Amino acid sequence: MISDATNRALGVALHQSWTIAADTGASTPFRYVLACVSEDEDGKVCGADSGEVGDMPAVVEWVQVHASAVGEDHRSYQLLAEIPMEAIPGVVSP
Ligand SMILES: [Zn+2]
Repeated sequence: MISDATNRALGVALHQSWTIAADTGASTPFRYVLACVSEDEDGKVCGADSGEVGDMPAVVEWVQVHASAVGEDHRSYQLLAEIPMEAIPGVVSP
């Protein structure tokens, strides 16, 4: 087995394996905005949005309310999300 010092001396880059995940312990809240990008017959985008909500069930609830109000043909959406994330180091591999 080649030591880390030997690898560095040989110019071999060590690659750290990382995983990223939602940081559920962060003080920054999760924030979501869902915008309806459905188009009418003339190609005009609806543009309605959920406003800022704190979880995905609230996003889904907004879609149900929106679709009930404007019609079930509004099926195209774009999700904007601010989710605190953390990087978790994994196993060092040569
Ligand atoms: Zn819409």
